[in-house]
Amino acid sequence: MTESDLPKADILVIDDTPENLNLLSTMLIDRGYKVRSVTKGSTGIRGAQVMPPDLILLDVNMPQMNGYEVCEQLKADDRTRDIPIIFISALEAVNDKVKAFQAGGVDYITKPFQIEEVLARIETHLTLRRLQNQLQSKNEQLQQEIRDRQHAEEKFATIFRQSPNPIAIVTIPEGQFIEVNSSFLSISGYSLDEVIGCTIAQLHLGRDIDAFMRRLQTRTAFHNLEFELLTRSQTRKNILLSVDHIDLNGTSYALLIANDITERKRLENEFISLVSHELRTPLTSMMGSLDLLGSGQLGNLTEQGQQVLNIGIKNAERLIRLINDILDLERIRSGKITMNLRSCNLADLMTQATEEMQSMANGSHIQLITEPLSLFLTVDPDRIVQTLTNLLSNAIKFSQPNNQVWMQARSTISSICISVCDQGRGIPAHQIQTIFERFQQVDASDARQKGGTGLGLAICRNIVEQHGGRIWVESIVNQGSTFHVELPLSDETI
Ligand code: ADP
Repeated sequence: MTESDLPKADILVIDDTPENLNLLSTMLIDRGYKVRSVTKGSTGIRGAQVMPPDLILLDVNMPQMNGYEVCEQLKADDRTRDIPIIFISALEAVNDKVKAFQAGGVDYITKPFQIEEVLARIETHLTLRRLQNQLQSKNEQLQQEIRDRQHAEEKFATIFRQSPNPIAIVTIPEGQFIEVNSSFLSISGYSLDEVIGCTIAQLHLGRDIDAFMRRLQTRTAFHNLEFELLTRSQTRKNILLSVDHIDLNGTSYALLIANDITERKRLENEFISLVSHELRTPLTSMMGSLDLLGSGQLGNLTEQGQQVLNIGIKNAERLIRLINDILDLERIRSGKITMNLRSCNLADLMTQATEEMQSMANGSHIQLITEPLSLFLTVDPDRIVQTLTNLLSNAIKFSQPNNQVWMQARSTISSICISVCDQGRGIPAHQIQTIFERFQQVDASDARQKGGTGLGLAICRNIVEQHGGRIWVESIVNQGSTFHVELPLSDETI
């Protein structure tokens, strides 16, 4: 709406001289203003209180109540305080003008006046008033927005502070803490001063920190990643970690939300180990019975009977494998079995693992290529061979006939890295880390179809970590995967 579209203002004229009143009213009505005119101050005040005008033209010299008194009363009343008042007087003494402004008037016009001047002054004060109103309502609106924002901030700050879930906000790519809540402090055991400004790596918050940092730097969100948190007192806690990316004042940060599952995990482990032990006894007896049936000592089986028996034996063996894996993992994880460290030649371990897997590779028409690296290192040879055979077995299992599988190794001053590379189906990016967790498989049917248990990689990771090393995989779906096992060479780290 333009200025000219606005409805013309409502003006109240208070003057005891009828000629003046007429003159002013006619002049204003001619210009399109809405005019109310009164000859007495008290009537003017009442009229203004009932329906406040946009502006008042007020004569100074009036009987009973003069203009200054009228003005003072109008200014003392909340309903009329803000109406601009222009005084009109025949006097031109400086004192009168001062008095007029002191009483609260915005302007002073002396008679005889020029019409154009009066109109110009009225227009100026109406515009000023309009702008003032706009400013005031803008101001109120802004204050409301500030109040709303403060309210929302307080609400979220309370949720952040009191959340039972540990929450942290860190910079990317450094992983420097800028904000953490009290649940985070209580689970980690650190104080606020120790955390803020430090990076995730500096606090040594877990064994998978390098892999975690690499993942954080890819700037992709991930949810419910199982993570082992190392507290200030070096206690291990199991958490499920979700990471999202948030924008704060134009800078991108990572929002970490954790869920403490330590107790759940402990009960789960206890349950699995208990059940596995309990399952082993009847299963051993079942296997014995099946073997006895197959031996023919109880009479010969028909061909069909033999087939059924074979299915039974195959599945019982699978169950035994699964239970053994669970117990093996449990024992390594809980430190119940220690690594039997000896100095051995890596080349021998690589060759032994290759020989063990050769018949499986032949059966699957996979070409197994190993380049043994002759180098002495102190490890538990059986456990390292177990790790390599498991990686080779997976590589063969998830490849197509006529694919190749390589095993190579290279060394640096402080470590060796053994890599098992295949041309198989690959692993989707979001599962690159989870497959090292127990029972995690890319495809739910892998256990059934490929005869796996979903525990092999979890066992590998535990063995490698017991050696102070690390294991990870690089993979492209439908192109292949490369598993890397890095072991330290210095004696102290083993
Ligand atoms: P499994 O006994 O099922 O092989 P693992 O822990 O060894 O258990 O492996 C877990 C899962 O990781 C497998 O079921 C499979 O989905 C995936 N995986 C492991 N190695 C490979 C590989 N070389 N190529 C593709 N997927 C693999």
